Amino acid sequence: MSKILVAGAGHGGLVAAIHLAKNGYDITVIEKCNPDTVGHDWHDWLSLDAFDRSGIDRPEKNTFSAGMPQGFRNPKATVMLRVPVGEDSICMDRKLLIAYLISLAEKAGVKFIFNTEILSPVTEGAKVKGLNLRDSERIYALYGDLVIDAAGMYSPVRRNLPSLCGIEKELEGTGVFHVYRAYFKNLTGEKTDPPYLINLFNRNIPGIGWTVTDEKYVDILIGKFGSAGSLTADEVNSSLDAFRKEFPFIGQEILRGGTFIDLPIKRMLPMLVCDGYAAVGDSAGMTVPLNGSGIVLSMNAGKILAETVMKAVGIYNKKSLWPYQYEYFHHYAKDLIIIDKLKDFFNYVKGEQVDYLLEKEILTPELIAVAGGAPLTFTPKQIGHILAVCPPLLKLIPPLVKNFRTLPFMDSVCRKMPEIYSEEAVNAWAEKYKSL
Ligand SMILES: Cc1cc2nc3c(=O)[nH]c(=O)nc-3n(C[C@H](O)[C@H](O)[C@H](O)COP(=O)(O)OP(=O)(O)OC[C@H]3O[C@@H](n4cnc5c(N)ncnc54)[C@H](O)[C@@H]3O)c2cc1C
Repeated sequence: MSKILVAGAGHGGLVAAIHLAKNGYDITVIEKCNPDTVGHDWHDWLSLDAFDRSGIDRPEKNTFSAGMPQGFRNPKATVMLRVPVGEDSICMDRKLLIAYLISLAEKAGVKFIFNTEILSPVTEGAKVKGLNLRDSERIYALYGDLVIDAAGMYSPVRRNLPSLCGIEKELEGTGVFHVYRAYFKNLTGEKTDPPYLINLFNRNIPGIGWTVTDEKYVDILIGKFGSAGSLTADEVNSSLDAFRKEFPFIGQEILRGGTFIDLPIKRMLPMLVCDGYAAVGDSAGMTVPLNGSGIVLSMNAGKILAETVMKAVGIYNKKSLWPYQYEYFHHYAKDLIIIDKLKDFFNYVKGEQVDYLLEKEILTPELIAVAGGAPLTFTPKQIGHILAVCPPLLKLIPPLVKNFRTLPFMDSVCRKMPEIYSEEAVNAWAEKYKSL
């Protein structure tokens, strides 16, 4: 049976590993952290349905809590839009989620090599043949028939692929959400209503800032859309001061996190596979481009990847792996291109225009739900209202038109993605996809 290496204990890689190991494949996951440190030090929101769709048993009820409604506020905090929580939404500690997936993988027979850094892929021409690794004692290579790249946004595998492979190496540029996140002690146990408050253009930073209050802690995120490293320590400190002024119960003591991190907020890469290689999760740009959520998408992709690998019967090349990209694109990624476009709005809108959008009810809870994947629709009454109040926003029309100029071609480019791999057809499609 084929030997498959999974680079990094990312969600999609673990889901693929579980399915493949259950079907007799020889799977090894290589992870730089140890079993106690793997997974971010915070809670995440995802849907329970993600487990069903990715063919993974739901976790025990005592390992997660129900999701919570969100309140979106404008920069001046004069309006709050309450967005209800999806029935299926849950909040789960990331460390528990990763530990759960690892435990299922180990039960299925997956081997783990922890505390080992992946340096680069081992390649021969355009084919990936393994991974170069470093642990505390040595640098060595591990070989496999296929490398599944689940090593996240800055994957050293994807970034060091030869150009011949045809896969984009970098996810940076404007497709980055640079954030600071920390849990501070809640000094009084007081909570906001709703507990999850999201400030759009927080302190006039193009991005968001949130506070999630629990009786014991306040989870604060300050995030900026832009390039990696664009959020400064001064911006974080002035936002923290502003949050403390508004909510004096936020203490100084950091209980968890307290780090800066980048998230990809970009549409799926144009090419996810090459000979001996498939990218999944953040490494493949599989997030909702506006808010960076990627757990559910990665898990779903992991299942599709495992099914494709099983059908490929031991030959892992661009052609046999292409159905994975095709299926993932049609089920999930194509609907996110429009959200990628909406995200670009933050590059040219100003804080006072966001205030106007909320105050005049142009931005509604329904429109905000689009960021989470809800369809974008307008009733004739809404269109009439927008037209009546939009004159002060006319300055936004030229950049909006420029931003959305490819909208009329989107559907046809998506439909024309080749179902069967041929070098020429796929390369031609990838060029069109990039130009959208
Ligand atoms: C602040 C923040 C909040 C978020 N909130 C949510 C949320 O609420 N809901 C949601 O769905 N998504 C959320 N996301 C996004 C989510 O984290 C990712 O989309 C998701 O983790 C999928 O990424 P992944 O599993 O592919 O990779 P990652 O989670 O990045 O995992 C990659 C793994 O590879 C390992 N690795 C990396 N490099 C190496 C190396 N050189 N050698 C060995 N191992 C390596 C890492 O240690 C890690 O274990 C959030 C992200 C951030 C930063």
